[in-house]
Amino acid sequence: MTVTGPAPGDTTTDRRIGYSVCTICDIGCQLRSVAEDGKIVQILPHDSPAVARNICYKGTAAPHIHNHAERIRVPLKRVGERGDDRWEEISYEQAMDEIAGKLRTVVDTYGPEALAVSTSGWNTQTTHGFDRRFMNLLGSPNWISGVALCAGNTAAVNRLTYGWMPFPDISNSSCVVLLGHNPRKHSWTPIYNMIEGARKRGAATIVVDPRISDQAEKATIHLQIEAGTDSALLLGWLKVIIDEHLYDASFVDDWCVGFDELKARADEYPLDRVAGICGVPADRIAEAARIYARADGACIPWTPITDQQLDSTSGIRLQSILRAITGNLDVVGGETLNALNPGWLTEADLQLHDELGAAQRAKQLGYDTHPVFTYRTAEMLRPHLKRVWGREWVDQVMGCHMANPTEVFRAMADGDPYPVKAFITLGNNTLLSYPNQHQIHRALLNQDLIVAHEIFMTPTAMLADYVLPGDVFTERNHIADAWAWGNRLTVSERIVDPPGEASSTFRFWTDLGRRFGFEQQFPWDTLEQVLDHRLEPSGRTWTEFRDSVVMEMPPPAYRKYRKTGFATPSGKVELSSSILEALGFDPLPYYRAKPKPTEEYPYLVFSGVREDPFFQTGQRNIGVLRRRVPAPSFFVHPDDAARDGLVEGEWARLETPHGQVRATVSVQSGMRPGHLRVPHGWWYPETRGDVELAGAFVSSDAVLTIDSDELVDYEQGVPHFKGYPGRLVPCLPPDGMGRTTLEG
Ligand code: SF4
Repeated sequence: MTVTGPAPGDTTTDRRIGYSVCTICDIGCQLRSVAEDGKIVQILPHDSPAVARNICYKGTAAPHIHNHAERIRVPLKRVGERGDDRWEEISYEQAMDEIAGKLRTVVDTYGPEALAVSTSGWNTQTTHGFDRRFMNLLGSPNWISGVALCAGNTAAVNRLTYGWMPFPDISNSSCVVLLGHNPRKHSWTPIYNMIEGARKRGAATIVVDPRISDQAEKATIHLQIEAGTDSALLLGWLKVIIDEHLYDASFVDDWCVGFDELKARADEYPLDRVAGICGVPADRIAEAARIYARADGACIPWTPITDQQLDSTSGIRLQSILRAITGNLDVVGGETLNALNPGWLTEADLQLHDELGAAQRAKQLGYDTHPVFTYRTAEMLRPHLKRVWGREWVDQVMGCHMANPTEVFRAMADGDPYPVKAFITLGNNTLLSYPNQHQIHRALLNQDLIVAHEIFMTPTAMLADYVLPGDVFTERNHIADAWAWGNRLTVSERIVDPPGEASSTFRFWTDLGRRFGFEQQFPWDTLEQVLDHRLEPSGRTWTEFRDSVVMEMPPPAYRKYRKTGFATPSGKVELSSSILEALGFDPLPYYRAKPKPTEEYPYLVFSGVREDPFFQTGQRNIGVLRRRVPAPSFFVHPDDAARDGLVEGEWARLETPHGQVRATVSVQSGMRPGHLRVPHGWWYPETRGDVELAGAFVSSDAVLTIDSDELVDYEQGVPHFKGYPGRLVPCLPPDGMGRTTLEG
């Protein structure tokens, strides 16, 4: 609820306080924002004690971000060569007219599938499914997002086992398993707070991580495995749990199919074999498995670690299988299968997937080769989702009907299997956000049209034809719904106006859709009208909701499957997946060996790691955050540093067979020897104009990771970030980078 009036003790200042959902990272904390005289001046904790501690220093830095001098305020049109970073300012109407005209030419020449879109819904927030709506009306299935490597793909794989993405009930759990995941006070803050609360109640925590992370230091048991061996470890757990009859036999008998086949697969992984693969003692593996299986309510919260491995599908499936056979599915303290909020239309309800014909859906890049998060698998689940959850199309965590990013970039770069020649990127620094950065660069250089919708200039936006100014969370009204993962609805209020011509992604898709003749399908003129529409099932309007609710969540319900069954072809938990089998893959989980270190490349590198001040590739231009971590760091063990002549704080070059990047050295005794940790998403905004694409190729981990067929997960086609060979050599600092003189 907005409070408007003078600041305390001040009769001249217009002061407003509104509820916000922070979009600086992907976790969506509930906060309060304070504006004075039309500018955001402060971020406060929420006034509900239930969520008041969910705030980090990125969130409180929002005034520095939202008021930053370098925010894009007007539409920009490229002058000069692509990537020259030279622009002319044009009006919004001119930009939209020209974008629509050029997109029409691409579609007429190459077909509608020649349009690809990449977006990070966490950042843009107000798309309301209108990107897919436009694409479905146009005829393009080629939508991609970073969720292909992070949480979205977890949702798609979980649906193979029990038809839905579970939500961990950490607050009531007796045991929390963190597979390489490391929630901290300033990263994934709400999860961190829940884990801290569980620990205080006496819950056990099991941490699996090659590094003694913050969470590992506090763990009941820490398994310091070799990077990339999570699937083997979980197969070892399965073996222990089945052999020692620690599973929930009645749930398995009544609600699972494929147990005998699963048992036979687990028998292929005796503990001495698993211990050899993972590099941790067999008795520790068994001890951890017993703690997990015996807990009265245990959960394995989502982790990015198994989203980004050579056997990602198996790693995620193993977590889903463990949940099920130990009786932790849809129970208190376990992991709940939350129904959709009955008073709210999800984004998928607005996406018009039936408008995209089956033939166009089958053209989705990845549909034939790596189908698990594409339309191909979603189509197989349609009747089962309808039976259990009441909808045929449910896009949980935005990850269940996507194209494969690698295949999209190949098509953009080489026209294989068909040309993709127009690319729209929204709140998404595409160049640094997916593997094989050099291929993405080639792909972008080969486009007839690139549109970027951003709040700041990024290396990707520098390669665009048009850059449109985006808005931020204090500048728009919204109801956040966690993308059909949870079912909580939360109000986020507009308390200041966007600067200049900045506007929402809703505005962009509506204005583009209307220029393509889709006026009837884009009838809403304002965000508030869209919110009214999405609230129609509840019989309330946006204004009524905002003035009376702030946050709303249906009461939890457990073991709902007893009435509906599971949303799988068998109606049961599929320990052996009938969908994977029908798609031609192994229906059971397995471990797939990763590339090994060699004499030439002695380190096992893991990349894609998040640092507290930043979310993905963002915030390097925000002085108050950048000063906390001025430059990227490689973490290495002291023995490795001594062997390679590496000095704390000095620069080093990491070389792999596929690329090289530079960062400073951080010697950490908590690293597993032979391992090297690389942070994600680095570039140097302060070098814009001096260095190609503001240093996009200097320290970005996307340069290192490749996506050739032998180095991606078979079923989803996701790349391997967690354990690949590399070597580290001392080097000079890159020119002009790592200065800490950023303002703001
Ligand atoms: S963890 Fe921090 S950045 Fe992320 S949503 Fe919460 S306050 Fe914002």
